[in-house]
Amino acid sequence: MTATGRAACVIGWPVEHSRSPLIHNYWLRRYRIAGEYRREAVAPGRLAAFLASLAARGYVGANVTVPHKEAALALSQPDDRARAVGAANTLWLDGATLRATNTDVEGFLNNLDAAVPRWDQDLGSAVVLGAGGAARAVTYGLITRGLKRLVLVNRTRARAELLRRQFGPRVEVASWEELDAALADAALLVNTTTLGMQGQPELLIPVARLPGHAIVTDLVYAPARTQLLAAAQTRGLRTADGLGMLLHQAVRGFALWFDKTPEVTPELRALLEADIASQPAKP
Ligand code: NAP
Repeated sequence: MTATGRAACVIGWPVEHSRSPLIHNYWLRRYRIAGEYRREAVAPGRLAAFLASLAARGYVGANVTVPHKEAALALSQPDDRARAVGAANTLWLDGATLRATNTDVEGFLNNLDAAVPRWDQDLGSAVVLGAGGAARAVTYGLITRGLKRLVLVNRTRARAELLRRQFGPRVEVASWEELDAALADAALLVNTTTLGMQGQPELLIPVARLPGHAIVTDLVYAPARTQLLAAAQTRGLRTADGLGMLLHQAVRGFALWFDKTPEVTPELRALLEADIASQPAKP
């Protein structure tokens, strides 16, 4: 318990790699809130006991990271977003009830709103690469913004088919071999795969195939400027990066725990960029 009675944490296993403490402790300092945000390493199998003792440990809520996001969903009262994504990344105590959401949906949408204002006006079709948890958040978010057609391209086609079944007829599935044709119609290209991340193979996309009005966004945030974004910018396309999404997805948790809606400032962004540059091996 802190002087304000407010503390939150990020729960993971391992948890050392999490950049959430950097973000939330920056906001605590900026708004002079005498709260705390800590890392909690919780082994698989210990999550239920840890969450049951959240209040006793002085916590008003928590972020949840790998490998606990699916288990946290089952151990809480999730909202529609967390249910649609199939994973919870933000928890808070509402009296004795542990509630959960998934802030990747708003992180993705709000980052695009900030980086490319009016990006969703007259949006035609989008191509989304990947079919994991991040792709579910992106698909759910794009459908709630009224996107008419979304082409999912994933290495393992069966995973993309699962998303199509979950999200309905606006979602189509295409193979990597069909990607070139899909790009020609795409107003928005989203990378939700791990390709292009430090330590992973590069993502090689023929951005020349995209129309000139297309927007390209990459969820990978380490490096902040991926090869995909660099290629899109060289072509003069508008872009939104994964670091922006990481910062925007953190806003809701802070607001829930500390009663203050924080701002994503250039200073915070610079702090994260410096951290990523100094620890290139961190996922
Ligand atoms: P995930 O569930 O493990 O999904 C990984 C995806 O990457 C799958 O579609 C997988 O395809 C694909 N993939 C992995 N290696 C590949 C390869 N060699 N070739 C082709 N496809 C490959 O992970 P996730 O939780 O969705 O996260 C995906 C990425 O989004 C990560 O880089 C993560 O850091 C990022 N992310 C960023 C934010 C943010 O705030 N910026 C938020 C959430 C996630 P298969 O299905 O074939 O395995």
